[in-house]
Amino acid sequence: MQRITILGATGSIGASTLDVLARHPDRYSVYALSAHGRVEELADACRRFKPARAVVGSADAAGRLAQLLAGLDIQVDHGEQALCEIASSPDTDTVMAAIVGAAGLAPTLAAARAGKKVLLANKEALVMSGQLFMDAVREHRATLLPIDSEHNAIFQSLPASYARDPQAAGVARILLTASGGPFLQRAVETLEAVTPEEACKHPNWVMGRKISVDSATMMNKGLEVIEAHWLFGAAPELIEVVIHPQSVIHSMVSYTDGSVLAQLGNPDMRTPIAHALAFPERIASGVPQLDLTEMAALQFHRPDFERFPCLALAFEALRAGGTAPSLLNAANEVAVQSFLDREIGFRDIDRVIAQVMEAVPHGPASSIEAVLAQDARARAAARSVIARLRA
Ligand code: NAD
Ligand code: MG
Repeated sequence: MQRITILGATGSIGASTLDVLARHPDRYSVYALSAHGRVEELADACRRFKPARAVVGSADAAGRLAQLLAGLDIQVDHGEQALCEIASSPDTDTVMAAIVGAAGLAPTLAAARAGKKVLLANKEALVMSGQLFMDAVREHRATLLPIDSEHNAIFQSLPASYARDPQAAGVARILLTASGGPFLQRAVETLEAVTPEEACKHPNWVMGRKISVDSATMMNKGLEVIEAHWLFGAAPELIEVVIHPQSVIHSMVSYTDGSVLAQLGNPDMRTPIAHALAFPERIASGVPQLDLTEMAALQFHRPDFERFPCLALAFEALRAGGTAPSLLNAANEVAVQSFLDREIGFRDIDRVIAQVMEAVPHGPASSIEAVLAQDARARAAARSVIARLRA
């Protein structure tokens, strides 16, 4: 029996994970679940999956959850320390890291330092801490499996020997596919007027609001380029973004001999979740089999960096290295939230990020403390850029 902790159990990835787990009660038990504020939803999941522990964001939320769970033997806690505990406890084997944003860094890192099997959805944690995170995985012999559909596809398209000997694998390019989001065809000059509702309406995937906006700006793909760099030790020039609006091919690896290996499937996150949970075995995920004869033509083209300046900013941050990706990530988180709160326009998101990257010097990412300090500086700088934009 594999014992699972889900960080971010009430989110889109959290719900898909619970859906897969419910199909295999003989293989998996739930040790702990976390949520930030959605106490009723977490209480429902606790009643269904009977974890030993549940963690929420505040004392007030913990009080409400404890009341809802009265009579059940579930320890309720709140705050970052408790998240780190449920991620690193000897009573859990596998941690699904599905908190959105920088808030997931500390518990995801705690899971890696405790040598857990870490299923990584929380790409922002890796973007921020890059080398430090990968070092922790190696040093503590954690197992890191990508949940992001593209990275899971790349992982599936690489040979098992890749981690031991990447040179011998003969990888020529990593082809990271991107749907292009809801604004792939929309006239560029109308992008200023995009509303949060339009930005969150993704053509192929149903996801949380932050990643939906990231998909609309293509910052999501930018973060994924950085994620791929760390997960697969790939130089920036080895990673190519390919627009593929149908989201049937989830990514590809091309090899020096001319072969291209791809992973295909219906766009449903339960496939990569089931893959990572059972790896190296396979289990049913609830996702219908792909019927290629039902498929319209599959299209591929190059991304337009002028339509999607966030993608260019992410490549710049990756090339700059050090704490530049954590600057990018923090400025993006603040700008996206401000857009969702209707304080700034859609195109202001890339303006805020560019100005923060210009204004705040980056340095070496020598420790998690340095990364977090940079994150705090970038957030403060982003807030003052936003204040200027709104003045
Ligand atoms: P979501 O907004 O649906 O859920 C986020 C979860 O994190 C919720 O359970 C919420 O309670 C928790 N949370 C939010 N803020 C928190 C905080 N400050 N402290 C602690 N917990 C907090 O997001 P999602 O779409 O499930 O995405 C989760 C992560 O997975 C993101 O990093 C995203 O980029 C990544 N991801 C998502 C998808 C997808 O299809 N949804 C695909 C690939 C990668
Ligand atoms: Mg993805």
